[in-house]
Amino acid sequence: MAKILCVLYDDPIDGMPQTYARDDIPVLDRYPDGQMLPTPNGIDFRPGELLGCVSGELGLRSYLEGNGHSLVVTEDKDGPDSEFERELVDADVVISQPFWPAYLTAERIAKAKNLKLALTAGIGSDHVDLQAAIDRGITVAEVTYCNSISVAEHVVMMILSLARNYLQSWDLVKAGGWNIADCAARSYDIEGMHIGTVAAGRIGSAVLRRLKPFDVHLHYTDRHRLPLEVERELGVTWHESPADMVPHCDVVTINCPLHPETENLFDAAMIARMKRGAFLVNTARGKIANRDAVAEALESGQLAGYAGDVWFPQPAPRNHPWRNMPNHGMTPHISGTTLSAQARYAAGTREILECFLEGRPIRDEYLIVQGGHLAGTGAHSYSPGNATAGSEEAAKFKAKVPAEG
Ligand code: NDP
Repeated sequence: MAKILCVLYDDPIDGMPQTYARDDIPVLDRYPDGQMLPTPNGIDFRPGELLGCVSGELGLRSYLEGNGHSLVVTEDKDGPDSEFERELVDADVVISQPFWPAYLTAERIAKAKNLKLALTAGIGSDHVDLQAAIDRGITVAEVTYCNSISVAEHVVMMILSLARNYLQSWDLVKAGGWNIADCAARSYDIEGMHIGTVAAGRIGSAVLRRLKPFDVHLHYTDRHRLPLEVERELGVTWHESPADMVPHCDVVTINCPLHPETENLFDAAMIARMKRGAFLVNTARGKIANRDAVAEALESGQLAGYAGDVWFPQPAPRNHPWRNMPNHGMTPHISGTTLSAQARYAAGTREILECFLEGRPIRDEYLIVQGGHLAGTGAHSYSPGNATAGSEEAAKFKAKVPAEG
């Protein structure tokens, strides 16, 4: 029987909701490229409920315990005295989420003698030292596509919010003000702008499709080029590299995974190549953009705005410069954990667990690492190596002591 250790974000401060804002969520047939939605043998939750936090338990407890397995769920993930580190030593499976990542560094993997599966309840497994997982023969899997559209919608919202100066205008109203000139002095239409995505995978291409009706000029860069008919349909221009693309763009959106090739991609030199006053939206991973270079570019005006929901580490220390830099639209890591997305990633997590526990193959599209090498989606979208360095900083955030600096 297996021990499953699951790390999820805290419950709402006032406890689990008794009612929800809406009674249902739309039922989808398939993902946009035809990929099947998650196909577990069953689910023990109602789609639309909060599942991604500790009490939500991804709806897994009755299934796992009913089959004789044990489930430990905790939000206490950082530092050597955390419940995660204590429970890890004999866990067979670790489930974690990018929103509240249980960083699986090489040191932690070395302590986890029984670990066979690191399962991401979402997309993006950079919080796992993939090189260490490759070396130890641990399988790494994620719920590919489960929240790609959720993020694409968020990207469009962030681009419009920055360009239209929405956040500052909203702040002004909340503060009792009415000075229209203050709102309008930084407000632009995106019509006619040049907008480029770094990566045109599931999220990047969904962003392109959603932006096309705004009559903008679309650009992308990716390691693999889109089919020519798709390029024509979207009217999108391909560039050899991010460095080639960014000088042409008024808005850049980052939609590639974090791995050694993309870590620190948007450093001071890359940002200097961008047009003065460009907007940068990053919902991919915090470490793809250099923390200090972004803050400095907003101070100097090289960037007119920066938005997204990904930081490094997570949770971000309270003194992280992105919390207080000018003209930012940052939120905690939320774009991929809408209630709609939660239903899909909980069902996908259950599907992967069922496969693992019953000795059936995990779908190729869910695989990142298997059998000592990058596999499935991982072989296409990642490069081997480790992107977890520095994650111990996350212990600086004390979740339940809001006054601490
Ligand atoms: P996909 O695997 O569909 O797409 C990733 C794309 O990135 C692929 O097209 C890949 O190219 C491309 N890519 C990889 N490396 C590079 C590189 N060095 N330069 C340019 N392009 C590169 O994943 P998704 O679109 O679904 O998700 C992308 C990322 O978004 C995730 O890995 C995750 O980090 C983040 N994400 C964030 C969420 C949030 O809540 N904020 C939720 C979900 C995802 P190719 O395969 O052609 O080599």
